[in-house]
Amino acid sequence: MKTENLLNNYDEAALKHSYYDACSNKDFKKYLDTLDINEEVLMKYTSTLEDSFLEYNNCLNCKGLDKCPNNIKGYQYMPTENKGLLIFSYERCLKQHQADEDNAYKENLELFEMPKNIKEANFKDIYKDDKNRVPIIKYFKDFMSSYFKNENPKGLYLTGSFGSGKTYLIASLFNEMAKKKVKSTLIYFPEFLRSLKASFNSNYSEKFDYIKKSPLLLLDDIGAENCSNWSRDEVLGPILQYRMENNLPTFFTSNLTLEELEKSLAITSSAFDKVKARRIIERIKQLTNTLELVSKNRRES
Ligand code: ADP
Ligand code: MG
Repeated sequence: MKTENLLNNYDEAALKHSYYDACSNKDFKKYLDTLDINEEVLMKYTSTLEDSFLEYNNCLNCKGLDKCPNNIKGYQYMPTENKGLLIFSYERCLKQHQADEDNAYKENLELFEMPKNIKEANFKDIYKDDKNRVPIIKYFKDFMSSYFKNENPKGLYLTGSFGSGKTYLIASLFNEMAKKKVKSTLIYFPEFLRSLKASFNSNYSEKFDYIKKSPLLLLDDIGAENCSNWSRDEVLGPILQYRMENNLPTFFTSNLTLEELEKSLAITSSAFDKVKARRIIERIKQLTNTLELVSKNRRES
């Protein structure tokens, strides 16, 4: 017999030996049976299969994604067979797929310059210690039932002090609506104006149209922007006009009351500006009911 063949026979015997040795662990053997792969193939990969068995076991005893002990959280190291060879790769686990499904509704929320964690806001987590929130939550519940009866409910102009939780509250409503497949857009208005201005030569009208037509819209922190003729007459005015004509629910948060907002929109306070500011306020009044959120500052810093 040639030396090469001798070596091959020896290798094969060693592989077989370590394979059957490993299979004396009944659970490991059971795991291999679930794979439905020929033993001739399996025995070439005993130690890698043992690694994947460890991860398989971790998954069987899953204590939730955040406690996943696998090499890559939420993934399982698994073999697949291809022409007599095993290929090992990290596959997303069932819990991950479930999480993907659970999070799919977030696709219905579009954010412009808003903190990402706003997508986690929900009714369940709204602070219950503060009775000032009760009328707002009641408004949301009525809003939802009325929306789904096609009664064209009005949005909300939510005014109140900095950090009281205005943005969070409206975001929680939009998240609940997203779970019911209603799309919404939340824009941080001052920053949105800057980015809209910067897109004059590119996708300006696309951006503008998107906002204008969004089924639900939040203009967040209106009144905090540097108001100009352009932002008032070319942006805010037409957006509100369109949304009024098409019964599209529109929400606002602001540190300013409507009276204060009117003053800030009357930029130069000339008679001309006063009329324009008034017109914006009239549109906001048509689109919304006003509620005030008086509460302590919830921001950490
Ligand atoms: P505002 O828009 O009135 O300035 P925010 O909505 O940004 O206030 O809230 C301030 C902070 O408090 C944010 O970090 C927000 O995530 C948090 N927060 C506010 N209300 C709640 C709530 N009901 N549950 C959990 N966190 C909240
Ligand atoms: Mg805010």
